[in-house]
Amino acid sequence: MDKLLVVKFGGTSVGSIERIKNAARKVIDKVQQGYKVVVVSSAMAGETDRLINLAKEIDPLPPERELDMLVSTGEQQAIALFAMVLNSMGYPAVSLCGWQVPIITDSVHTKARVRKIGVQRLKNILKEGYIPVVAGFQGVTEDWEITTLGRGGSDLTAVALAYALGADCEIYTDVEGVFTADPRIVPSARKIARISYEEMLEMASLGAKVMQARSVEFAMKYNVRIHVRSSFSDQEGTWIVPEEEVMEKVAVRAITLETKESRITVVRVPDRPGIAYRIFKALGDAHIVVDMIVQNVSHQGYTDLSFTVNKADAPRAEEIVRKVAQEIGAQEVVRDDNVAKVSVVGIGMKSSYGTAAKMFEVLYKNNINIMAISTSEIKISCLIDQKYGELAVRELHSAFVEEGEEIKIVNDGT
Ligand code: ADP
Ligand code: ASP
Ligand code: MG
Repeated sequence: MDKLLVVKFGGTSVGSIERIKNAARKVIDKVQQGYKVVVVSSAMAGETDRLINLAKEIDPLPPERELDMLVSTGEQQAIALFAMVLNSMGYPAVSLCGWQVPIITDSVHTKARVRKIGVQRLKNILKEGYIPVVAGFQGVTEDWEITTLGRGGSDLTAVALAYALGADCEIYTDVEGVFTADPRIVPSARKIARISYEEMLEMASLGAKVMQARSVEFAMKYNVRIHVRSSFSDQEGTWIVPEEEVMEKVAVRAITLETKESRITVVRVPDRPGIAYRIFKALGDAHIVVDMIVQNVSHQGYTDLSFTVNKADAPRAEEIVRKVAQEIGAQEVVRDDNVAKVSVVGIGMKSSYGTAAKMFEVLYKNNINIMAISTSEIKISCLIDQKYGELAVRELHSAFVEEGEEIKIVNDGT
């Protein structure tokens, strides 16, 4: 049987008819090499944002069911155009929305999870010699409600289809692969040949939007190998693979920047048991995800408590915390949208020392104040003033990646 391949094109790669033609040529190349190809397409560049902004003109917090109904049309347009282009080039193709595959999800609108994928129809289409062009980002519930899979969700569509079909997965985007930092911020960033699922997941969760975090999580769970590459060149890109297959050992693999978080500070909170519980219980009940949390040393029974949340959730979080603050007798609540989180990421950090000190030194030498710190085994994140975000990324990249040899790795068993 022919080898199966799922290829996904991001928004920029299908941003105009010319670009769709370019993407279609990539697909045709693969078909000529003997692959059976399933295409996944995102909406044309900017379309999803345009639709969201229209909705927000009506209501800053639009009903999520209607939002999914609206934004899913972006991908529907793109797949129809993509199929038309393939047909016009002599390669019969048929476009499919999520519900036509079907890609069945739970009913959590705007961030639904994939529950089940039917592959029979795709297999029939392939058998008949057509190229299926599937809408990324969207699914359907058991009750026929249209859902979407979270921003960047076409990556997840591709990975999930690759798993369901037992296919390889190629993600075509507007950069040559996964780099040691966003190449738009750090021109000297290097393409990474192979990266582990763990590192890619951490990077994606910390702001490197080249792959959607949930898609990497899915790939890691089901062992789907991913090749991230450019739709504008034929260069080999980056392979996302299990840790054992990553040959190059370094402490710090990459630097990331996240600018989509806000910091909320509860000022002069009485320092007694149960206060943190009340604040974070209220946020949890409202389904707001909290990221970094910092509580200062107490002075005369009072302390300040800060945390970060997604910018989109910040106004609601502020409102909720304001209510709790009044009940517990805190002085005030302050929100700061101008923060950024810079992180250094690498599996090698598990067995190395000096990374935190070096990171803090780089920030200090550039006169950048740290507002909060969080760590895991494979990352260190610092919250800083947003205006220094890009500077910090460049300086950290220069210290860790360009001159990275200084960091010692011990006991890694190799
Ligand atoms: P697509 O529309 O193809 O899904 P995205 O815009 O979602 O593309 O992701 C690609 C972008 O991710 C790049 O243009 C780049 O600016 C950004 N990016 C951020 N961090 C990285 C990184 N470490 N390596 C590569 N790209 C990155
Ligand atoms: N079009 C959707 C978005 O912009 C999904 C994607 O591009 O992956 O988030
Ligand atoms: Mg994307």
